[in-house]
Amino acid sequence: MDLDTPIGQLYLVGPLYSRRLEKLNIKTVGDLLFHFPFRYDDFSLISDIARVQPGEAVTIKAEIISLKNEFTKTGKRIQRAIVCDQTGNLEIIWFNQIYLLKTLKTGKMYNFSGKVDWFGRKIAMISPEYEEIRDIAGSQSPSTIHTGRLVPVYPETYGVSSKWLRSRIAFLLFNHQIEINDYLPEEIKIRNRLIDLVPALLKIHFPGNLNDVYEAKKRLSFDELFFLQLNGLKRKIDWQKQTLSHPFSIPQEKILDFIARLPFSLTKAQNRCLKEILTDLSQKKPMNRLLEGDVGSGKTVVAAAAVYTSFLNGFQSAFMAPTEILAEQHYQTLNQLLSPFGLNIKLVTSSHKLTAMSKKPDVYVGTHALIQKNLEFEELGLVIIDEQHRFGVEQRAKLANKGQSPHLLTMTATPIPRTVALILYGDLDLSLLDEMPTGRQKVKTWVVPPQKREAAYNWIRERVKGTDEQAFIVCPLIEESETLKSVKAVRLEYENLVKNVFPDLRLGLLHGKMKNKEKEEVITKFRQGKLDILVSTPVVEVGIDIPQATIMMIESADRFGLAQLHQLRGRVGRGEKQAYCLLFAENAEGRVLERLKTMEKINIGSKLAEIDLSLRGPGEIYGTSQHGFPDLRLASYTDLELIQKTKEEAEKIIPKLKQFPFLYQRLQNSPVVKPN
Ligand code: ADP
Ligand code: MG
Repeated sequence: MDLDTPIGQLYLVGPLYSRRLEKLNIKTVGDLLFHFPFRYDDFSLISDIARVQPGEAVTIKAEIISLKNEFTKTGKRIQRAIVCDQTGNLEIIWFNQIYLLKTLKTGKMYNFSGKVDWFGRKIAMISPEYEEIRDIAGSQSPSTIHTGRLVPVYPETYGVSSKWLRSRIAFLLFNHQIEINDYLPEEIKIRNRLIDLVPALLKIHFPGNLNDVYEAKKRLSFDELFFLQLNGLKRKIDWQKQTLSHPFSIPQEKILDFIARLPFSLTKAQNRCLKEILTDLSQKKPMNRLLEGDVGSGKTVVAAAAVYTSFLNGFQSAFMAPTEILAEQHYQTLNQLLSPFGLNIKLVTSSHKLTAMSKKPDVYVGTHALIQKNLEFEELGLVIIDEQHRFGVEQRAKLANKGQSPHLLTMTATPIPRTVALILYGDLDLSLLDEMPTGRQKVKTWVVPPQKREAAYNWIRERVKGTDEQAFIVCPLIEESETLKSVKAVRLEYENLVKNVFPDLRLGLLHGKMKNKEKEEVITKFRQGKLDILVSTPVVEVGIDIPQATIMMIESADRFGLAQLHQLRGRVGRGEKQAYCLLFAENAEGRVLERLKTMEKINIGSKLAEIDLSLRGPGEIYGTSQHGFPDLRLASYTDLELIQKTKEEAEKIIPKLKQFPFLYQRLQNSPVVKPN
């Protein structure tokens, strides 16, 4: 038996349990061993009966004197036992576990672990774990696994209890001839002071003390991140296997001239990112870089400089956007920026059919159509993809394959902290636009206390009534997605606002369950200034640009992540006028309030994402299902030191991966983490 053996072959795991275990993603023996406890019950305090105190969690070693079933006054079943040791007697109570009368035997010794408390007027142990003490002479197993120690508690599923998992894991680790090869190279273990795999597994499941847990977690969380890094690097190396026949030369003066002729000067961040990109472009290997920056941080002009470089080297570029509207917007911008330099730009969308052009285009701007149509690129040198998270890896590859290994620049406004990006995009190099152009007005943000709600409504009325300013009011989703329940909630709020709060204003309603045509009508009305306030859910894309909108009011802001609030806030402040964001919370006190208050001070998305990550943990923010981010079991997205260390080690090992067959094999089966 080894880590890859199907779980069904383990003793006492038949087809029924195999099926149940699948819900926990356990398909092999290795999956079971890497199913880690999320906490430990500390039952290591072993006490004489005479010394137990109410409120304590302890273990007693005692003999059962009597055991019987009783009915309470309310007709519930309880099981009542009297047990004793040399120092005295104690009562034990269980609720509704009638089978105990068969499992437990009077006259026998057991460990009982649990909480001691008052039961009526007497002290009793309530619903303890129990375990027969085994004779362990000559065996490697510990005498107990469920009691009298740090007891592991696991993620469970229907029909699979922690007790059951514990017993199967103990059986595997202590009784069976399972062959576990430590896949981590010795040099890495030495450099990072990591313990071996088998002791690590023993200590994570059955620790003798908290230091054991620490050592085990240190080793196993290293593995977890190390495998993610290796996977990313492998993708990167595959990418870099492509070599370019014509590396770009960088015409410094022409680029400087392009920059000098812009109506503004580049920010420091833009200069830094552009430099990183140009360095990539001059290499023999194709660039694969992610440019991350908030909406409005000025990604397009950086991309345009890269397009210009491609043009100066005699190559075409393709610029891909997620929607037609965005493609058109990019087309206009690129035209403005680049046609003065002689570039010929062509828009390709489903509504703009390809027509023969007298002059060969230097830049194609478009949507998916760019890959769907049989566009023949003659000399595609650079591909730029805006909002990369909307495109799958496959689509990226498809487009990249149209040329001869073109350079690839992907751009995103999704705020991801640097640490997370390092793990998730191990195959991409990262450039961060963490600075907004100067002169851009900040959206003034306030967390509004509930007693000022009336005042806030009046303030909004003053600003939007009879003026050209407009406001958004965003209500949160009641459930994860835009269900009927959520839609009902936003509709109710809309009706309330219309009737009771703003009867004198023109309000519109927008939510995801509306037909496209209805949505468009409402957005158009809002854009044309025929509505004062648009009430909507957060999932709705509220057009792209409504420059007159100056107020963003968000209900139940405490339900949102900071980065998400920041993205909502980014919908206002597009015009000349000062814009405002008002945050209302259901329970804004203490830490919740403090978290929201960071919105008042910070206006860089990736920074807010970082703060959110450290305050709320990745589970809440990067829910795997929603974002496709891998769920880390032990390691943390915030542990920058470990992330960097594992990255370095992965870089060292990957060129000689084949020298480590166990590691190579593990990487194929990747037991530790299952990314995406
Ligand atoms: P995004 O990063 O959201 O794609 P854009 O590239 O669309 O941002 O830029 C937003 C606006 O900011 C554009 O109108 C652009 O001309 C302007 N802009 C870009 N860089 C600067 C800068 N350094 N200073 C002032 N304005 C800038
Ligand atoms: Mg943009």
